Amino acid sequence: MSTIFSKIIAGKIPARIAYEDDQCLAFHDIQPKAPVHVLIIPKKEIERISASTEQDQPLLGHLLFVAQKIAEEQGLKESGFRLVINNGPDAGESVAHLHVHLLGGRALAWPPG
Ligand code: 5GP
Repeated sequence: MSTIFSKIIAGKIPARIAYEDDQCLAFHDIQPKAPVHVLIIPKKEIERISASTEQDQPLLGHLLFVAQKIAEEQGLKESGFRLVINNGPDAGESVAHLHVHLLGGRALAWPPG
């Protein structure tokens, strides 16, 4: 399994990077659904949240921690933001590499469509 996100991690496809460390990469979505739309992905190739293992727990926590740090950097701490993980066909998952969507900068409807 190798997706477009693996190519972004490898630097083979350009992306507007928001954050990077040894465990994860965050970059701006190419088709943003909100004024701020950042994807936070593990460098480890995990297909989706339902494919994660017990050993992945610290990494999964790290993704959420990084997401809220980026939200703060993007000025969303007071206005609010949403974190979304689409898992499988019914959720509209289109890239089989785990990614957390960070959305903000406008009021977001609930429930989602
Ligand atoms: P999903 O629908 O799987 O939850 O989210 C995948 C997201 O990846 C979509 O919002 C889509 O716009 C974004 N995306 C797909 N290909 C690329 C790409 O090559 N670069 C960037 N920056 N985002 C991408």
